Amino acid sequence: MSPVSDDFGIDDLPVRDELRGKSPYGAPQLDVPVRLNTNENPYPLPDELVERIAERVREAARDLNRYPDRDAVELRTQLAKYLTDTTGYPLDLANVWAANGSNEIIQQLLQTFGGPGRTAIGFEPSYSMHPIIARGTGTGWIDGPRNADFTIDRDDAVRAIAEHRPDVVFVTTPNNPTGNAVPRETVLALYEAAQAAKPSMVVLDEAYVEFSHDESLVGLLEGRPNLVVSRTMSKAFGAAGLRLGYLAAHPAVVDAVQLVRLPYHLSSVAQATALAALEHTDTLLKYVEQLKSERDRLVDELLAIGFEVTASDANFVQFGRFADTRAVWQQILDRGVLVRDNGVPGWLRVSAGTPAENDAFLDAVRDVQKESESA
Ligand SMILES: *Cc1c(COP(=O)(O)O)cnc(C)c1O
Repeated sequence: MSPVSDDFGIDDLPVRDELRGKSPYGAPQLDVPVRLNTNENPYPLPDELVERIAERVREAARDLNRYPDRDAVELRTQLAKYLTDTTGYPLDLANVWAANGSNEIIQQLLQTFGGPGRTAIGFEPSYSMHPIIARGTGTGWIDGPRNADFTIDRDDAVRAIAEHRPDVVFVTTPNNPTGNAVPRETVLALYEAAQAAKPSMVVLDEAYVEFSHDESLVGLLEGRPNLVVSRTMSKAFGAAGLRLGYLAAHPAVVDAVQLVRLPYHLSSVAQATALAALEHTDTLLKYVEQLKSERDRLVDELLAIGFEVTASDANFVQFGRFADTRAVWQQILDRGVLVRDNGVPGWLRVSAGTPAENDAFLDAVRDVQKESESA
């Protein structure tokens, strides 16, 4: 048999039933001049940080014959310090766990608290990886309610939790792909509902919180051992290529996820790189204010052009509405700008880029708009 055979495909393999007919996560990685589709920070790392990373990685390289620190003690200590410094809520090593991107954090949480015979709920449209990771871990997925304006109706959501009694509740705030933050009172109500129903774990996905008009909800961890806040260095820190995510929670949660983590999951090189980056949080986060004001400018200009826009607390903006979303996505792409079609009918999402990239995007959508008006 030829190893490259045209008539043998995925369906011929004995893959798990729940994976059949499904598509992998797939934001297009296209080579176009302006890429505003995956919410990355558009600014490359500053030279001084690149140097510091090279230094720390060189040190780590000498010890690559050994396994890394399995418990990433130094890294978790620095992440805890960063959280304490930026939120004012005291956290230490015992409260923090790190992994390869917050996607791995979410996977470890579902391996620990979800799994076969258990369920997780999210309020969709929300982060597409939550249901995909649920499927991969054999966790049943419940599509929770969200209003037409993409806010979460507190009573509807509480009712859904009481009815389905999920084992894990995902709340993404600010939400992706819509951009809006979830009010603190809603999060509290969902936590109470989840405790009354089961009790179950509530995961606050704060991937974009550094861009929010509101503060982080890390302080809610006080007295709530079933709450987990998940964070990432992929967005505000401008280090998506590093693959470093982390969580803050009660120390018992950190103990629990260690039951499922692969030994030595975080490479020495990744730990060294992240530690170098954490020495430079001020430099890394200096672009956050600029990205926030560019985000606000995108909102204003999109509204001025005549689009509808969802209020955004993130580094991206959801805009619409379009009768043929896919066609508009393609028309914008034809003008050299890649935005994201998240499959929310009528809406597209654009990440805040550099001022020049945002101008190119705005020119492109104005042009598309003009063309559709004259058609
Ligand atoms: C981008 C994103 C993440 C980050 O994933 P990483 O694996 O850390 O890169 C997590 N949650 C949400 C909602 C996101 O949009």
